Amino acid sequence: THFGFKQVPKQEKVAMVRGVFDSVASQYDLMNDLMSMGIHRIWKRVAVQLANVREGDRVLDLAGGTGDLTTLFEKRVGKKGDVVLADINAAMLRTGRDRLINRGLAGNLQYAQVNAECLPFADNTFDCVCIAFGLRNVTDKDAALRSMYRVLKPGGRVIVLEFSHPIDPITEKVYDFYSFKLLPKIGAIVAKDEDSYRYLAESIRMHPKQDELKRMMEEAGLERCEYFNMTQGIVAVHRGYKF
Ligand code: SAM
Repeated sequence: THFGFKQVPKQEKVAMVRGVFDSVASQYDLMNDLMSMGIHRIWKRVAVQLANVREGDRVLDLAGGTGDLTTLFEKRVGKKGDVVLADINAAMLRTGRDRLINRGLAGNLQYAQVNAECLPFADNTFDCVCIAFGLRNVTDKDAALRSMYRVLKPGGRVIVLEFSHPIDPITEKVYDFYSFKLLPKIGAIVAKDEDSYRYLAESIRMHPKQDELKRMMEEAGLERCEYFNMTQGIVAVHRGYKF
């Protein structure tokens, strides 16, 4: 493909699947399931539903990691559409690509190693740009949102799925206990990495609140911006259009 990764013929699939077992990425997927008790699968499905893409659409799965969203989008855009899995991290991208090939999804997928802050795509390229659990990690979020807006076709939409802020005090209490006390312990046992999971909880607290992120999207040029809280605001989907 034009994104620097070789397209892999299906017959090479079996050999590749056997050869590739990136322990970091498989641990990543396991931790997602553990930490969210599997609920991240539902959050992702809802985000893709809200993206409202059609057959034949072109989608950018930004900070796509191991490709969960790409898999869901691929089903919706069909063979006539295409999905670009893009991530700044080569190892995540490689694991994502191998996962997708393993699932038999290769034909209409492309891969790109990119920084969300300065996307290397032409203006007006995508019907949908989606960033799931990725914006939080981006240093210059405003630059990323402007870049996402630029590569969006008129009529297209940006979807941001991200941890957010609980909308009621009881959820907040339970969630604080879970993420500051319990989660680092789970991280220590399962991933042998307590600090990373403490950092995770802190980075979620630092992330802009629902209304603030909405305002940032509007500032980047997006219109009709709105958000949908899930699990009492622990996670939110933001959506905005380019007209
Ligand atoms: N979207 C996937 C999911 O929901 O399972 C992966 C989310 S993972 C928590 C965050 C991803 O963001 C990582 O794969 C990381 O490499 C990527 N990332 C971090 N900063 C980025 C940037 N500036 N541009 C593009 N990707 C970035």
